[in-house]
Amino acid sequence: MSLLVVGSVALDSVFTPFGETADALGGSAVYFSVAASLLHPVRVVGVVGDDYPVEALDLLAPRGIDWSGVERARGESFRWKGKYSYDLQSRETLETRLGVFASFQPKLPAAWRDAEYVFLGNIDPVLQLNVLDQITAPKLVVCDSMNYWIKGQKPDLLKLLRRVDILLVNDGEARELSGDWNIHRAGRWILDRGPRLLVVKQGEYGALMIERDRTFYVPAYPLEEVFDPTGAGDAFAGGFVGYLARSRSVSSAAMRRAMVYGSAMGGFAVEGFGLKGFEGVDAAALAKRVRAFVDLTHVPEAEPIE
Ligand code: AMP
Repeated sequence: MSLLVVGSVALDSVFTPFGETADALGGSAVYFSVAASLLHPVRVVGVVGDDYPVEALDLLAPRGIDWSGVERARGESFRWKGKYSYDLQSRETLETRLGVFASFQPKLPAAWRDAEYVFLGNIDPVLQLNVLDQITAPKLVVCDSMNYWIKGQKPDLLKLLRRVDILLVNDGEARELSGDWNIHRAGRWILDRGPRLLVVKQGEYGALMIERDRTFYVPAYPLEEVFDPTGAGDAFAGGFVGYLARSRSVSSAAMRRAMVYGSAMGGFAVEGFGLKGFEGVDAAALAKRVRAFVDLTHVPEAEPIE
């Protein structure tokens, strides 16, 4: 059973009302892998420039993250700069520098082509398609994207959508992609374009799983301290896909449980700057948080009112 991710391996500079980071380890593939590796080993495909602190990635390898599919190219690494509003609800991208991603031609190691669970993390949809083309018979393909690509490369993204099982985006991205402000109509619009399921992340308001004929909702874990929302979406994806790979299932029941694992991981991500929120998080801490969701969402049965 294998789990493969392609996405950005980045250096992030983030400003929040509570502090800032400069050139910190980040990127969609990195946040995804740190979260998913708590549940299942992960293989990463991406590229970094010669300015990347690869030792820092190597330090994460003992978690079960295989970075050998991350190419080291000459040039500058992908860099992203973002600034959050006071309530941490919205963010502005100040700068996106593709660097070595601009000319990246992913080449999967031969032994990785049999990947069963695939996460196409936020990156150029052409690269996402390119990686998908190299995988022989995926069991589940989950895909993320971002306003940058929705605005700049919508035709490629729509081509990709036809080949994915699940699209996992935030509410703003679902609205922007569909051109509809109502999230449920936006959901139908997206399901009409390929995916059989849509996961919509709504930050501190939780996440929706929209199927053609029903919708499931999971809240976010109620936190009193939130420092940096960066990577929450990718960490959610790591919990969601990591759980499905671990349970070797794509059943509807497994998907609902996976939503809880996703929400738990999103919570850890925002509790510290950069990847710090995951420091000290182990299987026991994850299990404890998942158990808390049972209490958070349990509705005791009562006599029907008639
Ligand atoms: P999230 O907060 O989950 O949406 O993800 C934030 C991460 O996405 C950061 O670590 C960034 O490095 C990365 N990122 C930001 N913009 C892009 C982009 N256009 N393509 C790929 N990755 C990006």
